[in-house]
Amino acid sequence: MGLKENIKEIEKRIALAAARSGRQASEITLVAVSKTVDPDKVRMAYELGIRHFGENRVQELQRKVAELPEASWHMIGRLQTNKVKDVVGQVKLIHSLDRWKLAEELEKRGLKAGVQVPALIEVNISGEKQKAGFPASEVKEVLESAAQFKSLRIYGLMTMAPLTGQAELSRPIFRELYSMQQQLSKNSYTNVELKYLSMGMSDDFEVAIEEGANIVRIGTALFKE
Ligand SMILES: *Cc1c(COP(=O)(O)O)cnc(C)c1O
Repeated sequence: MGLKENIKEIEKRIALAAARSGRQASEITLVAVSKTVDPDKVRMAYELGIRHFGENRVQELQRKVAELPEASWHMIGRLQTNKVKDVVGQVKLIHSLDRWKLAEELEKRGLKAGVQVPALIEVNISGEKQKAGFPASEVKEVLESAAQFKSLRIYGLMTMAPLTGQAELSRPIFRELYSMQQQLSKNSYTNVELKYLSMGMSDDFEVAIEEGANIVRIGTALFKE
């Protein structure tokens, strides 16, 4: 299948999963993960209607932002503090705020550049040691601490399910993140608006939508030949 067919197919599956969760397709944002995809193909996806793209490496992100500045770019991968200055002001949303040190650096660089820095807190729901993200038990404290920021803004939560190839195994992880969002939304925190849940990739995005995702990050299923 070509790119056009892939996009159509994914959009259809998103719409069906949205309907199963009582929502409209328009409530779900598709972030096309374009890491390693060549710029011509990325532009083609844009011309076919894709508006959001995700990258996980800063250098590649910068290059692609320069080539397609009219798209909305998302940083979805682990972000080193020394690269923060290259990302701030360049992206619509950083999905991978996974440690306090990074929050401080995003704030510092955002202030310096005079821009707001929208981010999602990455939560390590599965608790796997090698996985990035705040432990679930620390998220509330992070939200409370967000009051001190002048440029960093928290717009929601993100998680990665363990890579199993079996969508159903991701369901409890997604359900847990949704429940965390619901719980935390009972309070109000300064500089925090928990409106996005970024969860679900090629193998499990339908399950993620059924469990409340409103941003899905899909690479392989869109860009495969
Ligand atoms: C690569 C990547 C994705 C997309 O994965 P696919 O399985 O190719 O859809 C989503 N999120 C993150 C953080 C990634 O690094």
